Amino acid sequence: MNASESRDIPLACEVEVLVLGGGPTGVAAAVAAARAGRRTLLVERYGFCGGMATAGMSGAICGLFASGREHRYEQLAHGFAGEFYHHLKLRGGAAQPVPFGETGIVVHDPLVWKEVADDLLGESGASILYHTLATDVVMDGDAIKAAVVENKGGRFLVGASRFVDATGDADVCFRAGVPTAFGRDGVVQYATMAFRMSGVDVPRACAHPPALVEEWIAAADGAGYVLPRKHIYLLASPRPGEVLCNATAVFKPGGAPLDATRAEDLTFGEIAGRRQVREYERFLRDRVPGFEKAFVNDTGVQIGIRQSRTITGLGRLANDDVFKARKSARSVAKSAWCIEAHGADGIFLFYLDNDYYDIPYDALVPERVANLITGGRALSAEHEALASARVTAQCFLTGYAAGHAAHLSLRDRKPFADVDVTELRSRIEYAV
Ligand SMILES: Cc1cc2nc3c(=O)[nH]c(=O)nc-3n(C[C@H](O)[C@H](O)[C@H](O)COP(=O)(O)OP(=O)(O)OC[C@H]3O[C@@H](n4cnc5c(N)ncnc54)[C@H](O)[C@@H]3O)c2cc1C
Repeated sequence: MNASESRDIPLACEVEVLVLGGGPTGVAAAVAAARAGRRTLLVERYGFCGGMATAGMSGAICGLFASGREHRYEQLAHGFAGEFYHHLKLRGGAAQPVPFGETGIVVHDPLVWKEVADDLLGESGASILYHTLATDVVMDGDAIKAAVVENKGGRFLVGASRFVDATGDADVCFRAGVPTAFGRDGVVQYATMAFRMSGVDVPRACAHPPALVEEWIAAADGAGYVLPRKHIYLLASPRPGEVLCNATAVFKPGGAPLDATRAEDLTFGEIAGRRQVREYERFLRDRVPGFEKAFVNDTGVQIGIRQSRTITGLGRLANDDVFKARKSARSVAKSAWCIEAHGADGIFLFYLDNDYYDIPYDALVPERVANLITGGRALSAEHEALASARVTAQCFLTGYAAGHAAHLSLRDRKPFADVDVTELRSRIEYAV
């Protein structure tokens, strides 16, 4: 909307940096901007941070480590990703790393994740406003003047000089008129309703080779069970007797993926997802040794969305950048995470062979709007490239880069497009 349309909406406050969304990207961005001394507010629709990592119960931090069997527990992603991991470990909220193909992952406890985020935000000096949804923006030429936010108290404006869209779905970019894309020709990855099971004999339950579990599922599907996904992840959580189950594949009748920007699709997905959880629970208990006495203790707060809108950025992470492990002098994040694309044909996996690729700053900077930046799963990327770059460690890294870029862009009175990326890289401990 323009300034005259927003005339009757009260101004709640004004800050220097407004971060919309409190997933891994938003937490990192708000901490970075606040640590740089900027008056920063993070607005989040739920009552906690973490986004898909907590509400979606993604369950594990991917992207922390190198790729290649002998290197799979060597940390590659440092900076804020390493810092957050460190705090999770200190509080007992991270399990020992476990293998994931050629690389490694760390299962985390969602409650501890939320607590670490609260504390790091608090210590940084960033303010938080939970239970508040960003619904629109007020434009002033090619810049955003204020975000329109709504909560139980009504509809308000929050004015800011720089905006970080960390909604995961590029909601703010979309409202501001940034061109967005939606997967490959409109086809995004399948959603998952993640769940945890308690009462598990974990050493037995997690010892089965994934290919064997896949065979058991294939044999059971259609023979008394409905199990649309065959390749599933059963991961020991940091809590005793508990396994994180990333097992369901939720899609619309006919096989089309959910569109996370449509409440109708999400509603369908929540209900279908919960039903599917019960079906996998029954299968695991009946057919997988170690789960005999197990029960679902909870599901994600919401259906897990891997992908929706992505921005059209000044630069773009191309599929070949990942396939060919390309490096960039303008990199703000490294990744050795595989391409892990969940879709109608199952899960497409491509591992980097003892190498990593770079995510360039320009993939975070949207076209058209001078004082807006994004990161995480909304960055500008081709479909398969995003299926790698979307994971938590890289969301932390790109989010932190976005938050610090907000500071530099304010200091130098420049649009995000003209931020000195060499200085940014030195400030975000890129090389550490
Ligand atoms: C089922 C599933 C399993 C996954 N497994 C893993 C895994 O094992 N390891 C891994 O590293 N990654 C995994 N991922 C990916 C990872 O969790 C996400 O890609 C990552 O959380 C994205 O971070 P983000 O901050 O960019 O977006 P999100 O996590 O989506 O965060 C966006 C935040 O913004 C808030 N928000 C959205 N819209 C608004 C609005 N309009 N106003 C205010 N707030 C808003 C949301 O509530 C949320 O907190 C998985 C994802 C899914 C769905």
